[in-house]
Amino acid sequence: MADLTRLAAADLAAKLASGEVSSVEATQAHLDRIAQVDGDVNAFLHVSDHAIDQAQRIDDARRAGEQLPELAGVPLAVKDVLVTTDMPSTSGSKILEGYMSPYDATVVARARAAGLVPLGKTNMDEFAMGSSTEHSAYGPTRNPWDLDRIPGGSGGGSAAAVAAFEAPLALGSDTGGSIRQPAHVTGTVGIKPTYGAVSRYGAIALASSLDQIGPVSRSVLDAGLLHDVIGGHDPHDATSLEGAWPSFAAAAREGATGEVLTGLKVGVVKELPDSGFQPGVADSFRASIAMLEKAGAEIVEISAPHFEYAIAAYYLILPAEASSNLAKFDSVRFGMRVDVPGGTVEDVMAATRDAGFGPEVKRRIILGTYALSAGYYDAYYGSAQKVRTLIQRDFANAFADVDVIASPSAPTTAFRLGEKLDDPLAMYANDLATIPANLAGVPGISIPSGLASDDGLPVGIQFLAPAREDARLYRVGAALEALLEDDWGGPLLDRAPALTGGTR
Ligand code: GLN
Repeated sequence: MADLTRLAAADLAAKLASGEVSSVEATQAHLDRIAQVDGDVNAFLHVSDHAIDQAQRIDDARRAGEQLPELAGVPLAVKDVLVTTDMPSTSGSKILEGYMSPYDATVVARARAAGLVPLGKTNMDEFAMGSSTEHSAYGPTRNPWDLDRIPGGSGGGSAAAVAAFEAPLALGSDTGGSIRQPAHVTGTVGIKPTYGAVSRYGAIALASSLDQIGPVSRSVLDAGLLHDVIGGHDPHDATSLEGAWPSFAAAAREGATGEVLTGLKVGVVKELPDSGFQPGVADSFRASIAMLEKAGAEIVEISAPHFEYAIAAYYLILPAEASSNLAKFDSVRFGMRVDVPGGTVEDVMAATRDAGFGPEVKRRIILGTYALSAGYYDAYYGSAQKVRTLIQRDFANAFADVDVIASPSAPTTAFRLGEKLDDPLAMYANDLATIPANLAGVPGISIPSGLASDDGLPVGIQFLAPAREDARLYRVGAALEALLEDDWGGPLLDRAPALTGGTR
């Protein structure tokens, strides 16, 4: 039998539907792959003990003639920021080690209801703070393209699991780029939906005005199939958007014909090329833009003068919201408690938070509480919110002239483990291209655009669209993906060296 772990989710789903393979076989193949490579990759914090039973139930239902959803029986990796009843949920932190949730996150519940089989929980920077997964309390994840390099962050585990063929699909969260930047450095596809398009109920909050859950996959169509399952209104999430959404899988299938590119107006931010993109990243981006133009798209230079302040504004707004969200880890309600004999409640709380939080989390709590404190609020938090408004206006002006905005998804390819760990500002700079979308609530997609001419590592191209126009990203992403894969003679991941032999 062909290696089931190499199949796209859509193709695996077709084989499951026709009865050619069973979900137990597909799930076992992925569990075997995890056993084979995850000692090196460390994409998973927890592998499910229930996956085979759950797959068996799907197979039984299918054999009994039940009409099942398209992805029924397909395995799924779940970022550990999402709570689950049958596996621990730690958000990459010691403070939640072993924590069992009494309920499933809405996206997990919807995935289960659609017959997807959760394989396990994926590694991440602690509380989703980071761009390399090195801030995980459980050790870093390694990039399957080169095990000495980072898989991006904070969702490096989900991206690496998909890139290393340990799972065909994964769920991620994107507060400032944590779905798109890992996609960029691992040669995978990642989508940050419109703010409010996908429920955040049961997602352990980082910054509530920025967080969004989305799909991680090896193709645009696969991402669309998963988005169709997890998206849509959820009464449990107060920020969830009302109204119906089109099928994103249908949008991807339509996009693959390429017709969408004729007359498509693609905006390129004129201020961005000066912002220090690695030459190989800039080359790959230019080649993709030339390809779009050749296929009939019109490339339009646009101005977004406030994007350069996005990182500064984000790193005030995010810590402010995070410091408030993380106040609930108080040694009483969730997770770890460090006893202080004879100590007060405050002593126990302080000792617990000291032992339970890692250095990046502490740094952001300090920054956030400072920015929110009386006397500094207007100067820091208030100013950052004003910048946020200016960035939203930059988007509104740009989208008056263009259909999508394109850029490289991140400034560099995967850097070496440890390279930026002691330099928070260098780490924050990775989010240069992704953060504006979170500040404005607009959707973004990252798809592989090729290998960098200077170091041979994967590069991603990002497209942004106006709020609620997520389907446009699937159409455009699938159109470019089809052109690029024609050029490469197959998916980019077929060229990943560390994967061909399983482990190095
Ligand atoms: N790298 C960004 C940060 O550290 C983004 C994180 C995210 O999207 N969760 O905050």
